[in-house]
Amino acid sequence: MANYSILQSFLSLNQPDDKIQVNYVWIDGTGEQLRCKTKTVPFVPVKPSELPIWRYCGSATGQATGNLAEFGLIPVALYNDPFRRGNNKLVLCESVDVEDKPTKTNKRSSCLSVINKVNEDFAPWFGVEQEYTLIDVDDCRPLGWPKKGFPGPQGPYYCGVGAEKTYGRHVMESHYRACLYAGIPIAGENAEVMPAEWEYQVGPCAGIAIGDDVWMSRFILHRVAEEFGAKVTFDPKVIQGDWNGAGAHMNFSTKQMRAKGGLKHIEAAVLKLRDTHNQHIPYYDANGGKDNERRLTGNHETSKINEFTSGVGDRGASVRIPLQVAKDGCGYLEDRRPASNCDPYVVAEAIVRTSVLLIMK
Ligand code: ADP
Ligand code: MN
Ligand code: MN
Ligand code: MN
Repeated sequence: MANYSILQSFLSLNQPDDKIQVNYVWIDGTGEQLRCKTKTVPFVPVKPSELPIWRYCGSATGQATGNLAEFGLIPVALYNDPFRRGNNKLVLCESVDVEDKPTKTNKRSSCLSVINKVNEDFAPWFGVEQEYTLIDVDDCRPLGWPKKGFPGPQGPYYCGVGAEKTYGRHVMESHYRACLYAGIPIAGENAEVMPAEWEYQVGPCAGIAIGDDVWMSRFILHRVAEEFGAKVTFDPKVIQGDWNGAGAHMNFSTKQMRAKGGLKHIEAAVLKLRDTHNQHIPYYDANGGKDNERRLTGNHETSKINEFTSGVGDRGASVRIPLQVAKDGCGYLEDRRPASNCDPYVVAEAIVRTSVLLIMK
């Protein structure tokens, strides 16, 4: 077991001003897991474009086969590093292959080109409600669950308080503050319906920042949990049976929806999402997982996978218009279909294509 006071004594050594540690973070070949490696640079970066492109071994990350695997990392979004602190940074990177083309699991460049097409006229905003489950590294069960059998049935855990109702609040609290320090706009948090499951909300973010911020928030969550010896899973249905799954509801608006009288634009977008339901579902499971099949059962605050439903304040719908939005007559809509392990770049691109550009791929 590591001795953390010794570690702390090394981390408090003076750091030379011209030796800044930048942790390059990227999505690996699973399309779900993240990787990182650190580069020392001789200046304090202010923009990601000031940082050099860096190469890595694409074979070791499931992104290339064979020896010609010098894949590239292009820095695209810069954050303060809540772990090393000071002038040190985290930087989210797009991964590219040996020809500098986006790798298979790099969905950012395609999302960005779609957002760039609509940004001036529609100014899309997004917010993701990221659900996750904490897992005990020793017994691989949700954190705090009994070694044998199950905790009491769902009911008291959602937004619960007290040692018998919440498991892993230390991870949630540390992650929340670490994200704010990094520069990620966390809108809030809550304990979820299944014990050891939590939610935090990212946003609202303008355009491509939603994908960057959600991915970096996931990295920070894994990293925080690592400090505590816990594991994070974004699996959308961790425990079969009468236990809620985990989603990543995508909230979406355009400037027309946010303006006075915007509800009619929201309703029009809901109809577009209805007409393209059969295209969205496989697209959201972009990494080949059958994730929404396991989760979208029609129970546990989900819709059925093969049916599109919508409604005001309806938490069993595919797409919901929040009650307050209906009351205000403007605001945003919520796509409740994306699973917790979705790629926010893919979901954001699909929603913009369908509801603004009117063309899915
Ligand atoms: P729920 O009622 O579904 O649990 P939450 O309060 O958990 O909703 O999350 C709401 C999400 O909506 C947050 O991520 C927030 O950033 C986002 N959001 C708020 N306003 C907008 C908007 N105008 N456009 C897009 N997203 C928004
Ligand atoms: Mn929520
Ligand atoms: Mn939730
Ligand atoms: Mn929601």
